[in-house]
Amino acid sequence: MTHDAQPGASLYINGAPVEGRGPDLDVLYPFTGEVIARLREADVAQVAQATAAAAAAQPAWAALRPVERGRVLIRAAQIIRERAEELARLETLDTGKPIQETRVADWPSGADALEYFGGLAPTVTGQTIPLGSDFVYTIREALGVCAGIGAWNYPSQIACWKAAPALAMGNAMVFKPSEETPLGALKLAEILTEAGLPAGIFNVVQGRGAVGAALVSDPRVAKVSLTGSVATGQKVYAAAAAGMRHVTMELGGKSPLIVFDDASVEDAVGAAILANFYSSGQICSNGTRVFVQRGILPEFLKRLSERAAEVRIGDPLDEATQHGPIVSAAQANKIRAAIAKGQAEGARLVCGGAGDGAFVPPTVFADVADAMWIAREEIFGPVMSVLAFETEAEVLARANATPYGLAAGVFTRDLARGHRMAAGLQAGTTWINAYNLTPVEAPFGGVKMSGIGRENSAAAIDHYSQLKSVYVGMGAVDAPY
Ligand code: NDP
Repeated sequence: MTHDAQPGASLYINGAPVEGRGPDLDVLYPFTGEVIARLREADVAQVAQATAAAAAAQPAWAALRPVERGRVLIRAAQIIRERAEELARLETLDTGKPIQETRVADWPSGADALEYFGGLAPTVTGQTIPLGSDFVYTIREALGVCAGIGAWNYPSQIACWKAAPALAMGNAMVFKPSEETPLGALKLAEILTEAGLPAGIFNVVQGRGAVGAALVSDPRVAKVSLTGSVATGQKVYAAAAAGMRHVTMELGGKSPLIVFDDASVEDAVGAAILANFYSSGQICSNGTRVFVQRGILPEFLKRLSERAAEVRIGDPLDEATQHGPIVSAAQANKIRAAIAKGQAEGARLVCGGAGDGAFVPPTVFADVADAMWIAREEIFGPVMSVLAFETEAEVLARANATPYGLAAGVFTRDLARGHRMAAGLQAGTTWINAYNLTPVEAPFGGVKMSGIGRENSAAAIDHYSQLKSVYVGMGAVDAPY
């Protein structure tokens, strides 16, 4: 093994590494295909052990002063920043994403979340509702044990985005990373322990979907937060409903990026690149339907293919590399099948194509029609569809004609039009003259089939807590008999 990322043990339960007793889980470095760690899944008893440890530890954690909980999270953020280089390298080995991305996007965004929610925890207060002499006051309480289930594209960021608000509000968490990228969450567990988190408050179980399913139906689990595909989201939401559990669902999309002819073509092309090719296109909020107003379409496509031709594809640990491999051979094959479908449907390949081995280059289709498969289905790879449009009303209707609603983007220099479009687009997040920026300060999540609930921002606090009303009677009880 030239790249060894073997952790101390596969799971993390009750404040300590624990070896799994389930099937083997080899972790591959997507660039070389070599095994960088040999893990074992949790068995069903270990999932129960993790939720039991979480349930036992949670009340004392919730009883701490919020500022004490927040201090632990802020310390964890500091440790992440101190170890930035080691963590970026691990994330690159786990995911195959270029080190120039993992240094700035993945753990740094996770650290932001820990810092933000650590600081927010002591500011969460209730209301007093006057009723003459009686009054009601409200308490925002923890839910209890939360289950977090992650996708493979931003494994450490997803773990932090879920753990930070959950723990800030006094919950405990059992987290199951994607089987493809199991390493970052284990590191987060170690770092939280080092930062002073009590045993049992953040646990990690590994495994495929069956382990996730066992976790979701565990009677001790009060809430499930999933980042994954719509199909998995439907299954997990249904399973959670059986126990009336709270859910946050961060699911897929087929988001529109709309470029009006008054926009800066250079900026719009840059945004289209960020919206389709960052992380080799494996981003849920990607703007994969790029609607370009007809007047600037030729110039847009020319600059896009010129700039796409400059991309440096290769070894993700080389800091010059801008475009890495796809997370797995299976995913690369799915993307290639989608590209073949686009060609068979008559879309015009402007640049890119199938690529070799683990790599799929930035790929652009022009002359795409709304009805084509590549314009309707999430590909989750570096494949952009460019569609021409004429008018604002037309493009708004076409952009919204999808079951998804995660994100949208508009490029225009017309201020009123930018805001009009933002109001009309059916999406949880809309960018005006920007794309794919998701700071922790802003709510993030989808509408329609793209999900339920919001991550990040103060809005996430509501999704990791519940309101209790306390009615205080100040006078005599007025009973009828
Ligand atoms: P999947 O939906 O395949 O898996 C997501 C997670 O759920 C994995 O950890 C998976 O385990 C687990 N899982 C699968 N089946 C079940 C089940 N029945 N019960 C409980 N857990 C289960 O998604 P991918 O990992 O393939 O990620 C890609 C998808 O995620 C894309 O559709 C993308 O759009 C979406 N996504 C959404 C984001 C958002 O914030 N909206 C962000 C990132 C990705 P395992 O993988 O081990 O089988």
